[in-house]
Amino acid sequence: MSHSDDTTKQDIIDKAIDLATTGDPSEAIRLLWPVMLDGTQRDQALFALAFCFEKAQNYATGYYLYTKTLEGYPSFTAAAVRQQACRRVVQDQGLIEDFEDMGHRECTICTLRYRSEFSLCPYCGSEKDEKAPARKEKKPDAQEKEPLPGWEDSSIFETLQDMGRDAADRIQDIVESDAVKKISER
Ligand SMILES: [Zn+2]
Repeated sequence: MSHSDDTTKQDIIDKAIDLATTGDPSEAIRLLWPVMLDGTQRDQALFALAFCFEKAQNYATGYYLYTKTLEGYPSFTAAAVRQQACRRVVQDQGLIEDFEDMGHRECTICTLRYRSEFSLCPYCGSEKDEKAPARKEKKPDAQEKEPLPGWEDSSIFETLQDMGRDAADRIQDIVESDAVKKISER
């Protein structure tokens, strides 16, 4: 993955947060769909997505998504603050929703859970039961990735460790981005 690709995704995330702040959270959510479809970028978009749902006054979903963000990044303070704010509204208004119950399904693409009656995943825009597309179908121009080495090859562990570090670095960029700082100061 190239650096410029990262930057573009970061721009989309920043733009979505701005858009949600200035009053069009549903458009902001749609803006995030392509980022949410990309398994390597999803973690970074999750906080922004939670913020968009909060701004759309869907506090139960906001709470769920902030919780998911914190599962991956427990020390993400801004997410914890927003999560608690959503929790209070949900409790005050009696809007408690259990996303793990039978009335919810897991998206086959982004693996987040949403209400079974929806025909589209509200987080990534995939259709119900959509099959995960092969990488090359999604990006015909992209260069074929080297196949991952088999598990018997010890370098797989180094690869995975590196991927973990990359993800942590990227989420740190989000945590420290101006858009998130603006939210935190509010
Ligand atoms: Zn989805």
